[in-house]
Order: sequence, then structure tokens, then C-alpha cells
Amino acid sequence: MTKREKAERIREILDEIHPEPPIPLDHVDPFTLLIAVVLSAQTTDDRVNKVTPALFDAARTPQAMAKLGVAKIHRFIRTCGLAPAKAKNIAALSQILVERFDGKVPADMEALESLPGVGHKTASVVMCQAFGKPAFPVDTHIHRLAARWGLSNGRSVEQTERDLKSVFPPESWIRLHLQIIYFGRQCCPALRHDLRQCRICSWAATAKRIREESPKPKAMPKATGKAKATGRARAKRAGAA
Ligand code: SF4
Repeated sequence: MTKREKAERIREILDEIHPEPPIPLDHVDPFTLLIAVVLSAQTTDDRVNKVTPALFDAARTPQAMAKLGVAKIHRFIRTCGLAPAKAKNIAALSQILVERFDGKVPADMEALESLPGVGHKTASVVMCQAFGKPAFPVDTHIHRLAARWGLSNGRSVEQTERDLKSVFPPESWIRLHLQIIYFGRQCCPALRHDLRQCRICSWAATAKRIREESPKPKAMPKATGKAKATGRARAKRAGAA
């Protein structure tokens, strides 16, 4: 099976399991999505969705967010990981949007990546989820699964992004990155498990990986001296009968 054929079969399975994957971060426009994605680094989506309603009630636009300032932003987001750095970045990027981008989020990778706290993955999420432009945001979960499924060699997140883009058609990227995230969250337990039971790894992973990662069969407990003696006595009685 070629990599492309493999990718096609994976796509069909994911389409079956998650036909319409929703965007997990609540937002109403590109700016609120950008802020939610910045907040989601090292923080669960649920946590972000808990803090953003109050934050966006206080400031829904770059102008209002810049005015709110670092200290007040921090008060709204303090339960998120890395809150002090995120508060600074959110205030600074809002100010830059006002000064350089006419108060709008640019639909341009380079411009997005120039904003404080916005890396390649965050920019990719905004490009595809806010503007519908083909991008394939790769986080550590997608990176790990792409390697397990044999779609990438797993050397770096950047390489995984290139590999996935080369085997999946561009019109599927936006949906696929969400489908893989949901599949990973719902189906992939962190601990050792039997890859032969999985709808994808059972045929996509290498035999070596399936062998190495599946739980080993439990070894029979070794007979103790007493158990050995009891066994011998039982055999003797059986012989005498
Ligand atoms: S075998 Fe496990 S890790 Fe691999 S895709 Fe299936 S559930 Fe996820």
C-alpha cells in the first residue's frame, strides 16, 4: 500500500467517525479565535472556553483589548497556564493589530507569525479556522499519530506538516487536522494498549510497533516450593488411585 493509499483509507475512516468535527475553541470572529488559540497553549480547550466569555465581554476587539491592558487581561485568564506571558502577548498583539493592521487580524501567515505569542501552529489554526485557507496545523498529538500511522518519520513537527500536506489533498486539511485531534483525544489512551483493536493502527502501524506497544501477555506465576510439594502429593495420590 502506498502512503497516498494509506492516507486515503485513514481519511475515509476519520470521515466516518467524525464527519463534521466542530471547532473546539469558542469564538465569534478572527480576533476572538486568535485570542482563544493563544490562550490554548499548554491549557485545555475547556479551560479556555471557560475564561473567554468574561474576557470577550470586557473586550471583543483589538482596540478594546489593547485598552484593557496587561493587568486586567491577566485577571480574566489567570487560571490558564502561562497566564502572565499570555496576558502580555495578548495586550501587545492587540496594540499591533490596531497600529499596523487597521484593527483587523491579517489573513496572512507571515503577518500573523510576526505577532507576539503567535507561532506557526497558532497562525495555521487562524488561517484555516477563521479564514478557510488551506493550512495543516500540527500539534504534538497529530505529530505522534502521523508517525504511528507511518505517514511521517516523526523527526520534527515541521517535517510532519510537510509529509501530511503531501499525502492529503488541500481541501481536506482543515477538516483532517480537527478529525485527527478528536480521534486522538477520544480513542488513544496514554497507556499501553492493544494496537490490533484500533481501527487505524491495526493495519497502518508496522508489525514491529504493534508487537512492541501491545501489552505483554501475563506470565504464569512461578510455582513456590509449597505449591510444588502439593502438586507432587496430588500426583502421587492420583497414581495410587
Ligand atoms: S492504536 Fe492506539 S495510538 Fe494508535 S491510533 Fe489506535 S488508539 Fe490511537
